[in-house]
Amino acid sequence: MQAAEVKIKGIVQGVGFRPFIHRLVRAYGLKGTIRNTSSGVTMELEGEGEAIRRFLTALPTEAPPLAVIESITSREIPWKGFETFTIIGSERQNERNTLISPDISICADCLRELRDPADRRYRYPFINCTNCGPRFTIIEDVPYDRPKTSMKAFPMCPNCEREYHDIENRRYHAQPDCCPVCGPEVSFLDAAGSAVTGDAIELARSALKAGKIIAVKGLGGFHLACRCDEPAIAAELRRRKQRDEKPFAVMCRDAEAARKICLVSTAEERILTGARKPIVLLRKRCDRYEHLSENGYIGVMLPYTPLHVLLFGDDIDMLIMTSANLSDTPIQKDNEEAVEALRGIADGFLLHNRVIQTRCDDSLCWVLDGHEYFARRSRGYVPQPVTVPQLKGHLLACGAEQKASICAGKGEHAFLSQHIGDLKNLETLEHYEKQIRHFERLFDIHPETIVCDLHPDYLSTRYAQERAERERIPLRQVQHHHAHMASCMADNRLAGPCIGLIWDGTGLGTDGSSWGAECLVGDYTGFQRFGSILPIPLIGGDRAVKEPYRVAFALLQAAGCETDGIRDAVRLEKQLKAGLNCPRSSGMGRLFDGAAAILGIKELCNYEGQAAILLEAAAGESGEHFPVCFVPDENDTELLRFDWRPMIRALTEERQTGADVPVLAAKFMNTLIEMAAEQAADTAEKTGIRRVVLSGGSFQNQYVMQRLPNRLYARGLEVYHHRRVSCNDEGLSLGQLMIGNAGKH
Ligand code: ZN
Ligand code: ZN
Ligand code: FE
Repeated sequence: MQAAEVKIKGIVQGVGFRPFIHRLVRAYGLKGTIRNTSSGVTMELEGEGEAIRRFLTALPTEAPPLAVIESITSREIPWKGFETFTIIGSERQNERNTLISPDISICADCLRELRDPADRRYRYPFINCTNCGPRFTIIEDVPYDRPKTSMKAFPMCPNCEREYHDIENRRYHAQPDCCPVCGPEVSFLDAAGSAVTGDAIELARSALKAGKIIAVKGLGGFHLACRCDEPAIAAELRRRKQRDEKPFAVMCRDAEAARKICLVSTAEERILTGARKPIVLLRKRCDRYEHLSENGYIGVMLPYTPLHVLLFGDDIDMLIMTSANLSDTPIQKDNEEAVEALRGIADGFLLHNRVIQTRCDDSLCWVLDGHEYFARRSRGYVPQPVTVPQLKGHLLACGAEQKASICAGKGEHAFLSQHIGDLKNLETLEHYEKQIRHFERLFDIHPETIVCDLHPDYLSTRYAQERAERERIPLRQVQHHHAHMASCMADNRLAGPCIGLIWDGTGLGTDGSSWGAECLVGDYTGFQRFGSILPIPLIGGDRAVKEPYRVAFALLQAAGCETDGIRDAVRLEKQLKAGLNCPRSSGMGRLFDGAAAILGIKELCNYEGQAAILLEAAAGESGEHFPVCFVPDENDTELLRFDWRPMIRALTEERQTGADVPVLAAKFMNTLIEMAAEQAADTAEKTGIRRVVLSGGSFQNQYVMQRLPNRLYARGLEVYHHRRVSCNDEGLSLGQLMIGNAGKH
């Protein structure tokens, strides 16, 4: 007989880990204890030496799908003679350290029962178990148990109660457990919001098949669903939703259905079908699906709740599933409000009476090196923390303005919020403030430092300033691109110093101007700017961001090229000469916008980043690039700026001599890749630093991400990209947190 102490580090709380251990321990005839610690769990195990060894081998392979095991260490300890196996601690001293699970898609066991006519939960839309079901979106407060969730309205029936208390049962301690006798129900309303009698799911299914647009209440909010094989229906949805050109996400019944419209690699299939079920950007099979997406990709997800599974049945292959929100306000989550807000948009409503406590949009990613590369990290991932080195106390980082997120941290955990949206209207700001309080309560965080952006006009900055003043908490303002760099460092568990290639839309620089194509050197304590691009005058300020032809004019004019082909050229020239509302920006996003407009790809943007996305989509194959030239900055001799004028001249000339747009779009991006490789290699030579982190929203570009790392490796550099959080402003709060932490004593 043997006694061992086993320490498991990683994310093993709030993912059904302890019930799993409990069952595994029984299977191997072991006795002892398990308790949560700040970095994972610690067990004391007693039993046959061979049984302990087999237990340790089984543990990582059989662990619940969302558990992230970073390390398992075991050592022999003195024999105590335990008579049972018990879960200790969490109800007492460590209670508030308990992590909360993200929402988990329906598991294979529940799916089997859902389809089994003999099962008491046959076709029950809210079937769940210890390994699956709603979590984050139904939790009101901690400790996480039923009375503190939306399930408090549904007392368990004796059968469910029995399962809940039975350690052998796969619903042991599953807080949202329920059945048709005791649990939530679905209902169907017509366009006017009046209840329709009958089988709600069948009513919704026939309406969808007949080409109607149906609002469907899901896990973290409402979707608008409709057929995706009819361009006219998609067009009608666009008209009603006032979503002119932005791509729609599609929900496919299974991976096989997804393959009918997209190419699906093995890694993509693994992520599509996994327990988290994000929307995955997949390459379109052909050009037939313009009505779904105007670029080369379609965002596809698979059904993740039993309700979705029933909605698809055997005969619906795929549906448009777009989040139901109005003009940049947060996703709808409450029945009455949704019916009110979506009147005139939805032809019917598939509702249920389980309250969505916390809204949470679908996550969105594409697959890079076999892993999720996030555009939006939300449902299925939040509120699982990003593990970081021990923080010095409690911190709150307030994020940026677009793609706002917050990050609250303590111990070894950084908790990033779900997708909140652009902080531009009252509804989103309210949602944002509510999420801050919610995270602080759930994870027992009392900020001792608040961190925010330098930009004085961001509503997140104002929130941070007001709160810091009101509660007398020290405030730290962090430069935008430094935070991006720190975010990618923390994402890769790097301490520093690093070279940061930050390609971004815009962010306020320390000199008061707008930055966004930066080559920085630094760590969490500070940074120096080594590279950027020549600033671009934005004629009309913010209007130039929405109207790339304005940027095209500025680029062409500076490069000494013809500007006749540009709309409003005369007026733009006047405005530029007078210097009227022409702030300068060194944002990479603007360079993409300008090139897209020069190439005639997009002159007016309908949504953020559209011109850059379409330029990427237009790119063909070319191994060539335009000239890469640098000029020293006028004031800062250390700072080398990429001179884009020779590139613009070459691009314009080749366009005039009849070169194809796909080739020119590829050569444009190749030029920027060469520019970055040159910058990084030069900076590495000057500083002796060889580690390069890539961050900023422009690195959502797949063409660039599939080529730039190789160009950097070829220069003998180490390259790190985001893996756990998004490269865009949504991931910024993690970097802010780390910089705020480094400044603490
Ligand atoms: Zn399940
Ligand atoms: Zn029940
Ligand atoms: Fe940014």
